[in-house]
Amino acid sequence: MQSFKIFFDICIMKKKCLQCGQETLGRSDKKFCSLVCKNTFAASQRRDTRDAVAEIDGYLHRNREILATLMGNTAKAELDRLVLTRTGFKYEYHTGTYLNKDGKMYRIVYDYAWMDFSDQKILVVRKKQ
Ligand SMILES: [Zn+2]
Repeated sequence: MQSFKIFFDICIMKKKCLQCGQETLGRSDKKFCSLVCKNTFAASQRRDTRDAVAEIDGYLHRNREILATLMGNTAKAELDRLVLTRTGFKYEYHTGTYLNKDGKMYRIVYDYAWMDFSDQKILVVRKKQ
């Protein structure tokens, strides 16, 4: 009988809706008072994420476009650092890094990777399709 009472208490435990703050009735893990509040909350979370990542996503996409344009159909090329800088390439934005067996650090931009080749040149490679 005691365990039934505990179960009953958990079931009717009042919690506040994460969206509107109204008390919710039902399962103890229920977070929203209604489907509308659940959807509104999710949409707002998506909006926050979209706004937070938009600027950096833009730099990354732009960097990839610059590399793709300068590389054309070649899979490996030395590019002039000055040319990249003039196009607005942002060296500090990349999607990952890779250290090759010779200890050279590649910076990955989606399907491209580049490394410092000299003070004037960078070496860019395109991932095999
Ligand atoms: Zn609500």
